Amino acid sequence: MRGPARTHAGEMRRIAAALVVAALVGLRPAGEERPNILFIMSDDHAAHAIGAYGSRVNQTPHLDRLAREGAIFTSVFATNSICTPSRAAILTGQYSHVNGVTMFNRFDSSRTTVARLLQAGGYYTGMIGKWHLGSDPVGFDRWEILPGQGAYVNPILYTANGEKTYTGYVTDVITDLALEFMKSRPRNRPFFLMMHHKAPHRPWEPDAAHGSRFTDRWIPEPETFWDAYDTRTDALHENQQRVAKDLTRRDLKLQPPPGLAGAALTAWLTTKPDSVTTTENGKTVTLTGEALVRWKYQRYMQDYLATVQSVDDSVGRVLEFLDRNALAKNTIVIYTSDQGFFLGDHGLFDKRFMYEESVRMPFLVRWPAVIKPDTRSDRIGLNVDFAPTFLDLARLPVPADMQGRSLLPLMRGKAPADWRTSMYYRYYHDPGDHNTRAHYGVRTATHKLIYFWKKDQWELFDLVNDPFELHNLYGQPGQEKLTAMMKAELLRLKRAVRDDDQLASEQLPNGVDGTVAALRGK
Ligand code: CA
Repeated sequence: MRGPARTHAGEMRRIAAALVVAALVGLRPAGEERPNILFIMSDDHAAHAIGAYGSRVNQTPHLDRLAREGAIFTSVFATNSICTPSRAAILTGQYSHVNGVTMFNRFDSSRTTVARLLQAGGYYTGMIGKWHLGSDPVGFDRWEILPGQGAYVNPILYTANGEKTYTGYVTDVITDLALEFMKSRPRNRPFFLMMHHKAPHRPWEPDAAHGSRFTDRWIPEPETFWDAYDTRTDALHENQQRVAKDLTRRDLKLQPPPGLAGAALTAWLTTKPDSVTTTENGKTVTLTGEALVRWKYQRYMQDYLATVQSVDDSVGRVLEFLDRNALAKNTIVIYTSDQGFFLGDHGLFDKRFMYEESVRMPFLVRWPAVIKPDTRSDRIGLNVDFAPTFLDLARLPVPADMQGRSLLPLMRGKAPADWRTSMYYRYYHDPGDHNTRAHYGVRTATHKLIYFWKKDQWELFDLVNDPFELHNLYGQPGQEKLTAMMKAELLRLKRAVRDDDQLASEQLPNGVDGTVAALRGK
């Protein structure tokens, strides 16, 4: 698990990072006590599975408490909706094409990260739980992480000095370790703790108590569950993250026949069944077709939501700890997820696409010393904003090569006049898992334009009149002006985030439209 052999560029970056860190040590603010920062991030937790965001499928009292006592952000988005890239964007404050993690590539740990800067700036820093960046954490006084995706039950976690197998459920284990970090922290420094849950990531294995509570629960299907993808491009038709077709026997927790082992067992578990025999009301029934699809959705969501319930419990335990230890007032508690997730929306169960359910990150912040209860921000925030935000909270300077912007003014309820009104998105993993096509696009408060550039296909949505993104307006008569405006904004954003160079080297279709031609300098 050691870092990669150092390249010249890596070495130069390491030296540059060391210089930044050295400069920061001299800039450590004196005087008023700085806040602790507790950053809780789960994996694949969609905002619409949180009560405060209007969930129709579950209740999350502890997460809702954060919103009630602090701020809820309704429009925080991942810039590349997939686990490892979002984590790299959060640590560096940079988009994927700048920080180098566009897919599941290894994070170059010689890079400047917010953890290194906070540590150099006087914070006691910790990272507990899921890391999933290929290289080991740097910039933490204490870290203990899951190898790769980690296990739900009796997980192994490792440090620089070795590994340990913990007895119990992963969400509880991570919570215990996070509480231990806070208990044993030095008292003369503020702390920064990244507490990263594995849940509710696939394969959605709940603990026994929550699992049994959800077994008989009926979960309402989302409005777009039976979306037939009319008017949309090839991408949705070709994707392989459909509840109907792509959940495996392992996902559905079907029991293998006795005696199956090794490769045969793996083959059985990874099969995507087109019929399932189960018991309903004491009778054995074989489900196919639409009845099977509905059953799969229930099994998927029961397990997903049961794992979310453990995360909500975890947040409750942490808030109680802060209360009991007089830490609540000056500890900023942030809850987010590395991206959103499809909960049967558009018939899907993963993320990756630029559609709302996938790109929206829950973002709840409580800081009683500064944030007023029931604060709400609908302004566009991004995962690349997190690092600048942490630095701003710690009253440390933000390096010029971080591309995000501090969310602190929004937390105070005062959006700067020049706050962004659009965001740039890009997904790269194609060919890749779930056969999701590469795309990039722009989202404003009211519209979204998506370009599947390998296919030269576009989608344009009116988010006000079509919030579920069912009606692709691209190429429709009367949309010419809007289309041109959105393309111009996409081009402007591409340049602003410096995604031009990489584009120029890619195999873009020839002269398909003004945007691409302009990007290629023709
Ligand atoms: Ca994730």
